[in-house]
Amino acid sequence: MDLKKTALFKQQGYIGGEWSDALDGKTTAITNPSTQEVIGHVPYMGEKEAAQCVDIAQQAFEKWKQTTADHRSVVLRRWYDLIVENTEDLARILTTEQGKPYAEAKGEIAYAASFVLWYSEEAKRAYGEVIPSHKTDGKIVVTKEPIGVVAAITPWNFPAAMITRKCAPAFAAGCAVILKPAPETPFTALALAELAQQAGLPAGLLNVITGDAVAIGGVLTAHKKVRKVSFTGSTNVGKILMSQSAASIKKMGLELGGNAPFIVFDDADIDAAVDGAMIAKFRNAGQTCVCANRIFVHDAVYDEFAAKLAARVANLNVGDGFADGVEIGPMINSGAVEKVRTHIDDALAKGAKVLCGNLAEQKGLFVQPHVMVDVNDDMLVASEETFGPLAPLFRFQSEQEVIERANNTDSGLAAYLYTRSLGRAWRVGDALESGMVGINEGLISTAAAPFGGVKESGLGREGSRHGMEDYLEMKYLFMGGL
Ligand code: ADP
Repeated sequence: MDLKKTALFKQQGYIGGEWSDALDGKTTAITNPSTQEVIGHVPYMGEKEAAQCVDIAQQAFEKWKQTTADHRSVVLRRWYDLIVENTEDLARILTTEQGKPYAEAKGEIAYAASFVLWYSEEAKRAYGEVIPSHKTDGKIVVTKEPIGVVAAITPWNFPAAMITRKCAPAFAAGCAVILKPAPETPFTALALAELAQQAGLPAGLLNVITGDAVAIGGVLTAHKKVRKVSFTGSTNVGKILMSQSAASIKKMGLELGGNAPFIVFDDADIDAAVDGAMIAKFRNAGQTCVCANRIFVHDAVYDEFAAKLAARVANLNVGDGFADGVEIGPMINSGAVEKVRTHIDDALAKGAKVLCGNLAEQKGLFVQPHVMVDVNDDMLVASEETFGPLAPLFRFQSEQEVIERANNTDSGLAAYLYTRSLGRAWRVGDALESGMVGINEGLISTAAAPFGGVKESGLGREGSRHGMEDYLEMKYLFMGGL
């Protein structure tokens, strides 16, 4: 796909409302994971440009925070309309740099846009409160203020949605953003910035900086003017950013790794559970932080579920995201392929069996989806996030046992359970240590709900009215002598 004909294809950073190169002119090549061809270049920026972004963002913030909520709402609404109007161009860019099937990319653009729409509405609802006073001649008033300049650092698996999920509530609240997109997928971010400019977002409010992640991250986390860091990515990098931000006590929004259990009880609708597993496991070729990582199936329905899942998985169409009917695109890079391979080899060496999938047929960055049976808790797949198209089936006997095994992880992002029993749904839903639980449902992400994790899966929530709170500070004013 030649992106040069796409109007939204930008090969420069976006700072202070200007399309900019690195100060020293350096660039870095971006490749298409499907063909591994170079699709374009972006500036390789570093500390100086990052510091410049903070000053520019701070100035833009000072003005933006004075605007009315109505004004911010209208600008966001225009951005939403433009994203929707440009869905096809955005999806073309997204599939070319990220690999996911074009239909799935269009779905991501709709999902990304939904956050902008949601926060265009939420902008008007940053309500404070008046609290009954402890003194007869005083009033307690609580207001909400934008927190200030926000550093947003995003991953490659959702190159559009992870950006709007942070930027839309930030702008709605009155904040300015410095966005460092993933090095693999900068073009979707830059295209979204172009549309933000067209929507009338003032210069300096959204700055997109590409280049040296460690140098840029170092400046953004150290700078006292940056008041919040919003990061989606690996748990290890989240820990680094949190420790770097400690010196200036920044507010942290962290969406980190998961190790989602997907539990199928013996009283489940097995066909519905298979449908749910297909979405929860194989969306984006298994490269989402809410992907089912450990599929626990009750002994009594294990063989039936395994056979039905394998039959569906064997029919999945793997290939270039632009080819007709493709459901699984390439992995993002060779490291991602290697991780899946390691998990499969480790499980095989410890006694698991492959029910469908064949690693020998792997070409380029394409990995055939796999279903494995006889998987146990000593295998790597039990403790590490595969982040690829491997469905490992663990056998369990009792509700209590599966709850303990599901919770036996440092992660706590998403969990899924399938049962027809109302009591069990509530009991297990309550007992699972995770920020989100899909009950008889494999797809739980929506702008209307608070997305986020517990334990080492993160801090804060994105989406819903709660997603605004991360960008607001509470101020308590006491008015005395009345
Ligand atoms: P993945 O392994 O899936 O690529 P990462 O957590 O490494 O996930 O990357 C997520 C984002 O964090 C990317 O934008 C990446 O460039 C950025 N990143 C990685 N290391 C650092 C760092 N030390 N400081 C700031 N950002 C970083």
